[in-house]
Amino acid sequence: MQADSSARKRVLFLFSDTGGGHRSATLAMIEALGLEFPDTFDCKMVDVFRDYLPAPLRYAPEIYPPMTKFPETWAISYRTTDGKRRSRAVIRMLFPYVARAIRRLYRENPSDIIVSVHPLVNTAMLRTMKKHPTPFMTVVTDMVTTHAFWFDRRADLVVVPTDEAREVAIEYGIPAGNVRVVGLPTAERFRVPTSDPMAFRVRQGWRRDLPVILVVGGGDGLGPMEAVVKAINEAKLNATLVAICGRNEGLQQRLRDLPWQMPHHIYGFTKQMPEFMAASDMLVTKAGPGTISEGFIAGLPLVLYSRLPGQEDGNVQYVVKKQAGVWAPRPHQVVQAVASWVNDPAALKRAAQASRRVAKPDAAREIARIVADRAGVYAPLKR
Ligand code: UDP
Repeated sequence: MQADSSARKRVLFLFSDTGGGHRSATLAMIEALGLEFPDTFDCKMVDVFRDYLPAPLRYAPEIYPPMTKFPETWAISYRTTDGKRRSRAVIRMLFPYVARAIRRLYRENPSDIIVSVHPLVNTAMLRTMKKHPTPFMTVVTDMVTTHAFWFDRRADLVVVPTDEAREVAIEYGIPAGNVRVVGLPTAERFRVPTSDPMAFRVRQGWRRDLPVILVVGGGDGLGPMEAVVKAINEAKLNATLVAICGRNEGLQQRLRDLPWQMPHHIYGFTKQMPEFMAASDMLVTKAGPGTISEGFIAGLPLVLYSRLPGQEDGNVQYVVKKQAGVWAPRPHQVVQAVASWVNDPAALKRAAQASRRVAKPDAAREIARIVADRAGVYAPLKR
């Protein structure tokens, strides 16, 4: 039965489409709230940059993909704004410029709890709501190297994906009692795959008898994916190569036109990532936190071929430290890594187990229970 809508709690999710990870994480939490507490929450997502901020900040979602093509420029802007003092100085400088927009955002979106999934909105929002506080939670979506912007000690709770990120949060002044290590929220379908992996292979026309190397370039198909796919093809491995190009149609066409020497399947953006991962044996990708966490849940060993300097350095360190994969910034290193697994099933199995060990498939559900608790909804005991 539908609950009385006046009794429903309103959750405001603040995110931005700067990279697919923030949106995926937000959608995963909304899904988990619905599953854990049916008919209890009204969830609203606001892309803070696109929907509220003045130009040029408003164009951040459009500027982000081309910016990441220049990793060194990205690294400079990341590093020069990171650190306690520097981040505060940047915010102090920017705040007058965004204050009106943030006040409007707060006024137009009354809610019972705010969940921020973006580093750049926390301080501005918390400063704005000083006098009329709404419970405020931050859900950090970078695995280890988390920018100072994520952390404002006025937040009621900061949820982080790893113990390493917890250390950073504390270092930046978040009281230890306000930091919870939960994991990165991922969609329910990664937790409970909806289709049998072999049946999926058959439906897609993939061979059942060969290991599958899944290459994913992120939501926008960014990074040196083309060179990586070419190198694997030239190595003529005894495997199937499946490439997901995201929204990058040019890349998709160029890959289709390669002189192919091994079984392969090329796709554009897919909504079936959980099925693709469950039906594959290893994942070659850039160091995006969402894709990495999803790969862990699917028990896929990872080959990371690129990362955004600063922000994604820690993702690489984490994967390597946990022996769930390797860092292979050059195409020939990618080939070496995947070949070692294609040719040695025991090594592949060991890496797959290491990947599964660090998986946190219940993160979204656990965060949903925390949100409910903070919003004053009775949370059932953990199953
Ligand atoms: N993704 C998807 N379909 C695609 C390509 C990517 O659903 O065809 C999803 C992927 O599963 C992940 C997100 O897009 O959840 C990418 O997030 P990540 O944090 O890995 O990278 P970002 O693009 O945010 O840097």
